Amino acid sequence: MIYSIALRNKFRGITAREGMLFEGPAGWAEWSPFLDYDDATCVAWLRAAREAAYDGWPAPVRDAVPVNCTVPAIGPEKAAAIVRASGCATAKVKVAELGQTLADDLARVEAVRDAIGTGRVRIDANGAWSVDEAVRALKELGRFELEYVEQPCASVEDLALVRRRTNVLVAADESIRRAEDPLRVRDLEAADIAVLKVQPIGGVRACLDIAEQIGLPVVVSSALETSIGIAAGVALAAALPELPYACGLATVSMFTAEVVAEPLLPVDGMLPVVRPVPRDDPEVQADQATTERWQQRYDRVEALLRSDR
Ligand SMILES: [Mg+2]
Repeated sequence: MIYSIALRNKFRGITAREGMLFEGPAGWAEWSPFLDYDDATCVAWLRAAREAAYDGWPAPVRDAVPVNCTVPAIGPEKAAAIVRASGCATAKVKVAELGQTLADDLARVEAVRDAIGTGRVRIDANGAWSVDEAVRALKELGRFELEYVEQPCASVEDLALVRRRTNVLVAADESIRRAEDPLRVRDLEAADIAVLKVQPIGGVRACLDIAEQIGLPVVVSSALETSIGIAAGVALAAALPELPYACGLATVSMFTAEVVAEPLLPVDGMLPVVRPVPRDDPEVQADQATTERWQQRYDRVEALLRSDR
């Protein structure tokens, strides 16, 4: 089935999320590479979906995983309200938004720090700062006891430079999932924490392999999937030997509708390890043209995957 669901707020410039759900002997799988990705990029995403459908996931070592709430680059009052409503003990705050200033970031992070009390606050710059900007911003923002900063700069070389000039721990996100060689983060000692996403990396097992080779604590995050795809992220988080940080998997709330009866939304800041099944809901089904486009995309990427093996 092909789904098309509107998002509550614009994300990565898109207003709706589309993807394919299919069932194999091991359960339901989601394949939802973003529409601007070329076929070659989608191969890893299909590997992840086929693992979910045909192989299943490694056995969990825990039955629920902690998650963070996400605070977009909004004003301080709204930011604090999101944190209080979430029930999560960890908040991730977006910073370095285009058109905003460091003062905006300081006000937002301060409000989140107050709202979360003894909880943890992490920030995500999505690679937007230069090295000097990052060092200056972290000097100021550091007073709010940051858990870590995610992707302060775009390149892995710059991450390594920032890491040497700040006391704040550095997490690599884009530097792992978009990189030709995710292990360069390790080789350059560019990060303290690795953010891993199941679909872009090619499955739960592929992520577990990287986690082992990279030798850093892992934060599991979503690629903005429905509950079917989120379950794969939960499976990864549940299978990791150590899970010292909350996961970025509480993203189903960004959708205006869901494909399953019981969406994977956090309760008391936790998501359960489950294997959800979509319900029959015409409201989330894509129209015929969209469905045909996805089927053609699947056929092309599947052929690439086969020639790859
Ligand atoms: Mg990120």
